[in-house]
Amino acid sequence: MRFLVTEECIRLARWLRLMGYDAATASATPLSALYRLAHNEARVVVTRNRRVQAGRLVRVIHLASQHLEEQLRQVAQELSLPIEPSKAFSRCDVCNVAVEPIEKARVKDRVPPYVFQTQQAFHQCPACHRIYWAATHYQRARQVFDRLRQEVRRA
Ligand SMILES: [Zn+2]
Repeated sequence: MRFLVTEECIRLARWLRLMGYDAATASATPLSALYRLAHNEARVVVTRNRRVQAGRLVRVIHLASQHLEEQLRQVAQELSLPIEPSKAFSRCDVCNVAVEPIEKARVKDRVPPYVFQTQQAFHQCPACHRIYWAATHYQRARQVFDRLRQEVRRA
């Protein structure tokens, strides 16, 4: 499942990436370019823009809420989206590309000393070179994903 999220919903796109999904962003102007991209790359469009209409070739989810967790819940439920813990945190949430493992020795001067001392596994984004590790915000995100997973299962 791949997504094309319109620009005003960038936060949702970043969270879909944290969940491991390929979530590209695009402007809704012009609409024809948005539809073409969604169709060519087989992406589900996610938007709050009412001008964006589902068509024969393009599936569209209109987000009902402005609240991030509500939006994630809606997308997960409408698509029966699998939320797989093993896929979480496998992409850079800024660049939408898969992160790659990097040896601990190579990040020594690039992360805070405390992080270097306490973490064992590091990943790097091949595009922006940000270093990723299991930090506190991961735990918070994991709680959100766990809640969503249970709710989608119940629905
Ligand atoms: Zn990146």
